[in-house]
Amino acid sequence: AGLSDLTRGFRVKLVLLGDSGVGKSCIVLRFVRGQFDTTSKVTVGASFLSQTMVLQDATTVKFEIWDTAGQESSPVQWSFDCVHADHHLIRYAALAPLYYRGAAVAVIVYDITNPESFSKARFWVKELQKHGSPNIIMVLVGNKADLHENREVSIQLSMLLFDLDIKFINSSYLQIICSECSVAKQLITLRVLLMKDAIDYAEKNGMFFIETSAKTSDNIHELFEEIAKRLPRRPI
Ligand code: GDP
Ligand code: MG
Repeated sequence: AGLSDLTRGFRVKLVLLGDSGVGKSCIVLRFVRGQFDTTSKVTVGASFLSQTMVLQDATTVKFEIWDTAGQESSPVQWSFDCVHADHHLIRYAALAPLYYRGAAVAVIVYDITNPESFSKARFWVKELQKHGSPNIIMVLVGNKADLHENREVSIQLSMLLFDLDIKFINSSYLQIICSECSVAKQLITLRVLLMKDAIDYAEKNGMFFIETSAKTSDNIHELFEEIAKRLPRRPI
C-alpha cells in the first residue's frame, strides 16, 4: 500500500459489552473470520482481534476489537460472601474500564430472546455514559435474530396487538379484551421486550440500533459498516 492508501485509512478501538451468552464472541468471529462455531468457548478475560474493512469510498478502517468476558462472572471467579443481587455488577464495574478505556466505539449486545440480557445492556449504556469517553459511539445490537420464533422482542407481536383485541399495557403485560363484551379477559405476564422498546431506547440514548445474527451472518457486515460511517477519522 502506498502512502496515499495509508492516509485514507483510520483505526478504531471497539469494545463489545453485554451479558454472557448473548453472542459477542460469535459476532466477532463471524465478522473477522466469516465463521460461526456452535462449540465456541466462553471468553476468558478479554480477547483481541482486528479486522480491516474497505469502505465504499475506498477508505480503510482497521477495527481493533476487544471482546470482553469480565462480566461473565462464574461463582469460582467471584467467590465472596456478599450475595447481594447487584454485587456482580458492582464488582465488574471496577474492572470494566480496563476494556473500554480509550474505546471509540462500544457495541452493546443483547439476545432478542432474553429480556434479562436487555436489562444488562441498559446497565452498560448507563455505565458508559458515566465513565466512558465523552464522545464514545454506542451501538445497541439485538443478536440471535435468527431465533425470531423464540423472540420475546417482537414486531409481529405489535401487529397482533393491532389485529386482535389485545391491549398492550407495558413491555411485560398484555390484556386480552373480549371483542363481544369488551371485558378484559386475561392479563398475561409475557416478559416480552418489544423490538420497539429497543428502538425507542436506542433513539433516546443517541445510539444506533441493529438486529444481527452471528449464525446466519445477517447484518453483521452492515453493523460494522454503520459503525464506520459514524467514526471520527484518525490516521493509522
Ligand atoms: P458471548 O458470551 O456473548 O461471547 O456469547 P458467545 O459468542 O460465546 O455465544 C453464546 C452462545 O450463543 C453460543 O452457543 C453460540 O453458538 C450462540 N449464538 C451466538 N450468536 C448466535 C446467533 O446469532 N444465533 C443463534 N441462534 N445462536 C447464537
Ligand atoms: Mg465471549
